Amino acid sequence: MPKLHLITYGCQMNEYDSERVAGLLKADHYELCDKPEDADLILLNTCSIREKAEDKVFSQLGALKGLKKARPDLVIGVMGCMAQLQQGRIQERAPYVDLVFGSPAIARVGQLVGRVRQGERQVLDTGEGALVKLTAKPDAASRLKAFVTVMEGCEKHCTFCVVPVTRGRERSHAPAAIVDEIRGLAASGCREVTLLGQTVNAYGRDLDPPTDLASLLELVDGVEGIERIRFTTSNPYNLTTRLIRAIRDVPKVVEYLHLPVQSGSDRILARMHRGYTVARYLELIDEIKATVPDIALSTDIIVGFPGETDADFAETVDVVERVAYDNAFVFRYSRRPGTPAADMSDQVSDAVKAERNAVLLEVSGRVAAQQSRRLAGRVLPVLVDGVSRKDAREASGRTRCNRVVNFDARGRGLLGAVVPVQITEVLPHSLRGALAEPVGAAL
Ligand code: SAM
Repeated sequence: MPKLHLITYGCQMNEYDSERVAGLLKADHYELCDKPEDADLILLNTCSIREKAEDKVFSQLGALKGLKKARPDLVIGVMGCMAQLQQGRIQERAPYVDLVFGSPAIARVGQLVGRVRQGERQVLDTGEGALVKLTAKPDAASRLKAFVTVMEGCEKHCTFCVVPVTRGRERSHAPAAIVDEIRGLAASGCREVTLLGQTVNAYGRDLDPPTDLASLLELVDGVEGIERIRFTTSNPYNLTTRLIRAIRDVPKVVEYLHLPVQSGSDRILARMHRGYTVARYLELIDEIKATVPDIALSTDIIVGFPGETDADFAETVDVVERVAYDNAFVFRYSRRPGTPAADMSDQVSDAVKAERNAVLLEVSGRVAAQQSRRLAGRVLPVLVDGVSRKDAREASGRTRCNRVVNFDARGRGLLGAVVPVQITEVLPHSLRGALAEPVGAAL
């Protein structure tokens, strides 16, 4: 049996795509292996969102060069966003890469590898492809949680972002195909799905007839065996009252929303082309909190976007304190080729970016710790998904509002069940608890 080694960088969508590729290559008898040295085919599924992500791939390719030299029949491929963005430049820099293909070509992976095997040199496929719902999975893929891509692409054209270039225009998968995929996952033991899209809350408007994410959530809620439904990433521009109410009313939907704000300054938001003001964002946050009181909120923030002054940054800090996020992902602005912000003349220095990054991490960490305290003493339903990382004798799971809870050993036998856990302690990055009812009753 030929062996495939997959290295995945970047977002959850890439993790999903990697599984599809492993599943598709099963038809050519490839089986997954853990070590590159054992592989006949190595695929790097790449990310372009920041320059650092691309640097990592080139350094990984450098590390694989020796392997290719020792075994010329080893096939090395680069797929995903970086393939789409850098195209032929990858093979210019690393000529021993046999194959480069973008996400629209995933469905053709078997054919592409076949062309390399037949002796074709430097195969490149970064063309468009029809939207196909791929559901192929590798043999080992049965698990409690799974990602499900519900739409591809992005049409927002934020001035900092490469996604519209790397993933093309917005295209939604049909609700029936998504529900079918989730039924299959549930039948193989999956209990939690995360619906993925670059702007997942724009789901369905391109379909005929058009639909929306709230309606999709209701359909997925009807799938027997699924206990929890998450979705990411939402854009404030497309957030509707209907979706906010669905978070409250659709029973299996988690009370958690990732809502990237990117900046707390109207001037910067306009330069980013985000399509909302700070006041509008905060209005949405108020509506969310009023509708779903237990909601957990997280966000993405870019520091050091071109032209960001100390005053702009201070407004971002204010927003973080005002919203009181449970988690904030802070990124230093990275200049991406082909995006409008890369050509803006007032780029911010690395030193200032580093300083703002540190300040924001401190503030968001403090705010998140305060937020967690609200859960102390409560009894919350927890989906048991494994053993605690800190103490293998303990069980681990997540609350509906997205907090990791480690709790007593009796929980370890309850994998996949939703059990009531009394929160006894709030730690910096997790909660500690104890099963609130005898194990029999919990089941
Ligand atoms: N589509 C989502 C949105 O726009 O809200 C998020 C997609 S992106 C994969 C995840 C995050 O990476 C963004 O929310 C943004 O904060 C960050 N990001 C994107 N481009 C960036 C850049 N050029 N430099 C730094 N961070 C960036």
